[in-house]
Formats: sequence, structure tokens, C-alpha cells
Amino acid sequence: MSDNLFDVVIIGGGPAGLATAYLCRKNNLSYLVLESGKAPFQGIANTYPQGKLVYASKPKDAPEPFLVDELRPPDKPVTVESYLQYVQHFVQHENLNIRTEVEFENIQDERDRLVVLTDKGRFIGRKVVLAFGSSIPRELSVYGDAKMVAKNMDDPGKYVGVRTLVIGGGNTAADVVIAVLKAKRECNDTQPVYWAHKSEKFDVNKETAQRLGEEILLGGNIRLLPGAYPRIGEVDDEGVDRLVIRINEFKQSDGIDLYHALSFPMQNVIACIGSQGPVPIFDKVGIQTISCTDGICKIAKEGDRLVLLSAEMESTRKGVYVVGGAISPSYMKISEGAIQEERHPNLIYTAINDSYYVVEAIKKRLGK
Ligand SMILES: Cc1cc2nc3c(=O)[nH]c(=O)nc-3n(C[C@H](O)[C@H](O)[C@H](O)COP(=O)(O)OP(=O)(O)OC[C@H]3O[C@@H](n4cnc5c(N)ncnc54)[C@H](O)[C@@H]3O)c2cc1C
Repeated sequence: MSDNLFDVVIIGGGPAGLATAYLCRKNNLSYLVLESGKAPFQGIANTYPQGKLVYASKPKDAPEPFLVDELRPPDKPVTVESYLQYVQHFVQHENLNIRTEVEFENIQDERDRLVVLTDKGRFIGRKVVLAFGSSIPRELSVYGDAKMVAKNMDDPGKYVGVRTLVIGGGNTAADVVIAVLKAKRECNDTQPVYWAHKSEKFDVNKETAQRLGEEILLGGNIRLLPGAYPRIGEVDDEGVDRLVIRINEFKQSDGIDLYHALSFPMQNVIACIGSQGPVPIFDKVGIQTISCTDGICKIAKEGDRLVLLSAEMESTRKGVYVVGGAISPSYMKISEGAIQEERHPNLIYTAINDSYYVVEAIKKRLGK
């Protein structure tokens, strides 16, 4: 927890967040990056497949070069692992001010300051830059705080020694099950991994199924729960948040249903039920979005909600800017009294260059 006042509090330590941090430092603006993952660039570490090449892609019609050359991927593509290693060195070398494993929750106004609320306390900034990307894990919609995983998970070792419940029926859930089984097997932990899916059929590709089969043959202790529904979150007598998951249900003629359910401490639950765009977060923070109707949008589909930003990328919440993947593939730009959809390709290039313009705008606003 900190009551320090920063010129800029930055949410997310991906390309957009780190570029913003680096430019703040170069321009003598005090700043703090809050990143939910274990390390900077966790978003990329979680979503890129192993060995994927990272391209320094630039939209054809983009006039400028990368405006923070230090974070540009090399022209000759390198693997994501090498790029991540380079970024770690960069962060250390530049001594960037980053706090990891801090989950952004909301923003409150306090006089002329913005108070950023997180799961690790409050942080205060004159301006806030939202750079949390586009891959926000979908939530379970039951009371309590399960771990939400959009793609890969970074800490399977945390589940050694506990009965773990993984929810979701696709490749991401299967990958998480494999990672936790492996971590448990390597520590001779015999506690099972329960794998639940609301449908009767799990839906994974052949390669993932093979890896899962291999892990089971090597001794992985797995219990499958097809047709299982997370029903409610509750607090038990000891004050522990728990998730109740219904594993079967018997309809009776007297109208009283009978069912079997399992209850897990919420901290042992990993939900892999896909990712969603950032619109629910914009709603929570009170940032205005506009729905695309009647062919207004060329890039977004009818019904999509696009965030409304000024030409300087400031949102309708004063002092709160939004950059990077969070506003891709397009947003609504207010410029000279008109509102128009603006194309915004989801690339490292756009994330970095957004940051340049936002820091320039903040510098001017703060008179620095
Ligand atoms: C598989 C794949 C391959 C790609 N390949 C390329 C490529 O070769 N070249 C290219 O230019 N682009 C590529 N992209 C796109 C590129 O990765 C994105 O455009 C870029 O990462 C966006 O940067 P960002 O900083 O806006 O978001 P992200 O990189 O997503 O970073 C956001 C950060 O915010 C953190 N965060 C999220 N929520 C919270 C929260 N509540 N509190 C605190 N922190 C939070 C995340 O952990 C993450 O570290 C690829 C994308 C994918 C999925």
C-alpha cells in the first residue's frame, strides 16, 4: 500500500505500459507500473505459443517508426522467449518502477487526484494510463475470488499439496490441468486435480489430448467431472470463500430437486472459461463506450461497444487515458467536434506509439 503521489499510475506492464513508464522516466514524470502477472510482459508470456516468432510489424500506412526503439522487436524475428529475456534486461537496466502481482480493480476521484484501487491497496496518481491489453479472463459470475486464467498459467506450483479444481472444457483448461498435474507429480503430491466442464464432452485438440494422456500415464491423478456446473460462491463457518459445483441433479416428481455437489476453497479453483474484451472494465471504471449500430462502424461489428477517446487518447473519465491492445481493433475518436471510428491494429507498434503520444499529452497537461 502506498500513499505516494505519482504523476502517472500505469495499469499493465506490456509493451504499452513499459513504453509509457520509460517515456515518463525520460521526461522526469514520476510513475508506477502495476502489473497483475509475475513479471513484466506477462500478457505476452501467457498468450504466445512457445517458440513463436515476434515480428516488428508496422501497419502499411503508418508514417512513423517505432517511437520507443528500445522496445521494438528486432527486424529479424526472434522467438518470444528471446524477446522476453531482452525485455527483462531492459527493465533491470533502466530500473523501471514496476510492482508485479497487483491486480487493478477500479479508480476513485479524490480532489484533483485519482486513486487506483487494487487487490494490494490504493495507489495515487495525477493521471492514470490503462494499458491492460485485450485479453481479460472471463469471470465465473459467482461470489468470490477464483483464479481466472485466459491462456497459460504462470504458477502451477502454487497448487501442490491441495485438491485443485480446474473449470473449463477447452485447450486452455487442458493445458492448466497438465501444468498442475506435472507440478504435483514432480513433488510426489498425490492430491488429485478435478477437471470440470458444464458440457458432457471436453473439447481439446489432438496434440493437447496427447500431452494430457502422457501426463496421466506418468502418474497424474485426475478426476473428470463432465456435466458439472459452478453454482454458487459461499463463505463457510471458518470464513473461507468456497465454490459449490453441482456434479449431477435428479428431478423428482414432487418438485424437490436432489443434487450432488462438491465444495472447494475458492483459492484452489482455476477457471479457464475464455477471455473477454475490456468493455466490462470500462463500464466498472465509468468510461463511456459507444455501440456500433446501423453501419456506423467499418472495422467493428454491429453491436460492438467501442471506447470513446479524445485525439490525445483521454477517456471520458478525466485524467484516465487508454492505450494499446485494450482499444484494438478500433475505438471512437472525438476530434474537432466529430466522432469517428478509428482503426487501431493490435500490434506492439501501435501499443508503443500510443504511449509516446499519451506521455506527450500528459507532459503538457502537467506543465512539465
Ligand atoms: C499469439 C499472438 C501473437 C502475436 N504476435 C505479434 C507479433 O509478432 N508482432 C506484433 O507486433 N504483435 C503481435 N501480437 C499482438 C501484440 O502482442 C499486442 O498488440 C501487444 O501485446 C499489446 O500490448 P499491450 O501492452 O497493450 O497489452 P498486453 O501485451 O496484453 O499487456 C497488458 C498487461 O497488462 C496486465 N494486466 C491485465 N489486466 C490487468 C489488471 N487488472 N491489473 C494489472 N495488470 C493487468 C497483463 O498481465 C499484461 O502484462 C500478437 C498477439 C498474440 C495473441
